[in-house]
Amino acid sequence: MSMLQHSTRAWGSPSRYIQGRYELDNIRKHTETYGHRVFFLIDVFFFADLKKRFEALYADSENTIHCEQFGGQCTEAEILRCTELVKELKPEVVVGIGGGKTMDTSKAVADNYGAAMVIVPTTASTDAPAMGLSVIYTPEGEHIGARHYHKNPDLVLLDTDILCKAPIRFLVAGMGDALSTYLECRANIQSASPNYVNSGYAQSIACQAVSKACHETVLSKGINAKIAAEQGLCTKDVEDVIEANTLLSGLGVQNGSCAGAHSIAEGITVLPPCAKLLHGEVVAFGCLVQLIVEGAPTAEIDQLYDFFNAVGLPTTFADLGIAEATDEDIMKVAEASMHSYWDVEPFTVNPRMVFDGIKMADALGKLKK
Ligand SMILES: [Zn+2]
Repeated sequence: MSMLQHSTRAWGSPSRYIQGRYELDNIRKHTETYGHRVFFLIDVFFFADLKKRFEALYADSENTIHCEQFGGQCTEAEILRCTELVKELKPEVVVGIGGGKTMDTSKAVADNYGAAMVIVPTTASTDAPAMGLSVIYTPEGEHIGARHYHKNPDLVLLDTDILCKAPIRFLVAGMGDALSTYLECRANIQSASPNYVNSGYAQSIACQAVSKACHETVLSKGINAKIAAEQGLCTKDVEDVIEANTLLSGLGVQNGSCAGAHSIAEGITVLPPCAKLLHGEVVAFGCLVQLIVEGAPTAEIDQLYDFFNAVGLPTTFADLGIAEATDEDIMKVAEASMHSYWDVEPFTVNPRMVFDGIKMADALGKLKK
């Protein structure tokens, strides 16, 4: 990606974001804002329960609803299947309830009908809900590209009661993804690289403020949020970290862009054990590598190691499940990561620098355990 040749700044975001305990109870009121023909695409884990609940909630109303179980992978075939399924209904509102792949499939179906997009994430593990794009996979799970939409979701709705009950690993992974936001935004600003709003514009003050707030919220409240969520408690710290993981992180990445941390997360998947890790877990390790490659102040690097050790994010090859990786393996990761976003760093990055950064991140991680 090259330097911006203009100074025009731009901002993109979902139209509405609503987060609260038991907020899913108000889903009918929310969908009626956009129309009365509603298609719900729901993750397998929640399908039976929510179908029953929604059928009761929408009974005796002027709404027509259709609930469908998500097929498990965001493929072109699944998008087509869901689109065909509701040809008669012609939905005015499409609601995706579940993880990233369910949300992404529902975004594509909403776009196919020009319907309102309502996204209901069931974990706080990534920044994907707020974004106006879908990541498309092959049926075998290989990432093949993305569909970009002219708008972000109309509504991102979070029921924090559901999010608090999800396995704790998701909340922690979301913190890892969220902590990359400020570091990557900062690199993009320093190099005058474009953000992800349409064809790419300069970062706004709003983007910088949001990214900074995302960072500070996770670092100051993440540990207590984890302790509370482990007990199934939905304290204000948990609510704040959920907002940082989902809204602040999503706004930060769209309006700021990715850099070294996400390059490592993509490159490291060439090592098969890493494919089993959650996105935010590998991004967390990528944050350490990015800071080392940048030569960031020791205090900033130490702060991340301390936080990762406290919440259980990976800091060593052993944590990533690649303790046996050879130098050749690590060089493969470094080279693969060059296809991503290292070019937005404010200096030229080569594979040897990334190799050194990855090895150093592991060495420091062992020392600081
Ligand atoms: Zn991410």
